[in-house]
Amino acid sequence: MPFQTFETIIGHNSNIAGMRAAIKAGNPGHSHLFHGPKGVGKATFAKAFAQILLCKDNSDNSEKSCGRCTSCQNMVAGQHPDFINVAMEEEKTRISVDQIRDLSAFLSLTPMESQWKIALIDDASQMNAQAANALLKTLEEPPDQSILIINTYRYGVLLPTIKSRCIKTRFSGLSQEELIDIVTKVVDSSSENIQQAVALCGGDVAQGVLLCESGVGEERGVFLREIEIIGGVDLSVVCTMAEYWSKPERFANTLLMLKAWFQEQIRGSVNSNKGPESIRKWLSLVKWADEIMGQAMVVNLNKRLVLESLFIKVARLCGAKF
Ligand SMILES: [Zn+2]
Repeated sequence: MPFQTFETIIGHNSNIAGMRAAIKAGNPGHSHLFHGPKGVGKATFAKAFAQILLCKDNSDNSEKSCGRCTSCQNMVAGQHPDFINVAMEEEKTRISVDQIRDLSAFLSLTPMESQWKIALIDDASQMNAQAANALLKTLEEPPDQSILIINTYRYGVLLPTIKSRCIKTRFSGLSQEELIDIVTKVVDSSSENIQQAVALCGGDVAQGVLLCESGVGEERGVFLREIEIIGGVDLSVVCTMAEYWSKPERFANTLLMLKAWFQEQIRGSVNSNKGPESIRKWLSLVKWADEIMGQAMVVNLNKRLVLESLFIKVARLCGAKF
């Protein structure tokens, strides 16, 4: 994903206007909490905000970054000495107290090439209890030249004492058109493929880009043709399908395509006159499928067998006699 500025970000217009006004007023705030759905660009927004504040061409509270100074270039390169991004480390399950202590120490230093020290925590709901408590100390007494930005898509998980000390900015989900525009900027692909990827990405830009790069558009056409007739084929065909769609390079996409297809079936049952019995059957199948698919992604279940049992249930629901 190339670096974005407030001028190039798609969506979130009122949030951009709000931040620009705060910068213009010379009051960018010490502690921010950005919350809203996963993958809509909260971190991208935070970095664009930071770039303006750190820009050397910014002495008159300009609401834009110049894009040319060494500070702007360092932000784009992801190596500004006055900005850090704290995220969960690889192979860890939480953001640790040591990471938060490092962050606090960083914020208390004198800026090296700008007016501010800026830290981003992404995603803050991943902090363990000790880390969250350590962060509270910094929030209670923020160093003069510091700005802390806390991102989360799980607002309810954060400590109330953290939330109450931050200026809160809520991010909305992006529209289909906005998602398509963003993915089109990042990936060079057919519009059909981009549309299919966006339809499956659940509003998450990074997921949409990955799906697009994996060529999900073409795959989805094949998948839909096969699953639409699954009620009328032999068991051996169902097993062959399971083998094909469970291949490691395909499996994650298969689950997404299945989930989207299930939603369509439920919508279809509701809209048709098949009655509550049909809706109930789909709902209970989807509930079971969600559980087993969730397990298949984290536990080392045999993926072919998972899909085989899923496809057999779907086929039976669609009228197969085996
Ligand atoms: Zn600049």
